[in-house]
Amino acid sequence: MQSLGAQYDNISKLGRVAEEDQALNTHEEFLNVRLNRLDWQRLKQVEAALDRLKAGDYGMCEHCEEPIPVKRLQAIPWAKYCVPCQERIQEQEQHEESEPATTGSW
Ligand SMILES: [Zn+2]
Repeated sequence: MQSLGAQYDNISKLGRVAEEDQALNTHEEFLNVRLNRLDWQRLKQVEAALDRLKAGDYGMCEHCEEPIPVKRLQAIPWAKYCVPCQERIQEQEQHEESEPATTGSW
């Protein structure tokens, strides 16, 4: 939670820079929206992890219900899935995202 607070500080600084430099405004705004969205997702992930901690099923993969390795939880304490499940889900998401763009650009 502390590191999240620090990130919000950085974002508010970025916002001020964007106000001063109009030429970079659109790009900075785009970055801010993206950063805010990522932070919001991270916050939701942390909250969900805290809920799982309360419910007593923290550290279990939500997909295959196997325990998530401790090393992974140390690196990503809010991890919802074990590595193989996470990779599978990300691949599916990327596939779903890239498909319309590919057909559109050709
Ligand atoms: Zn899994």
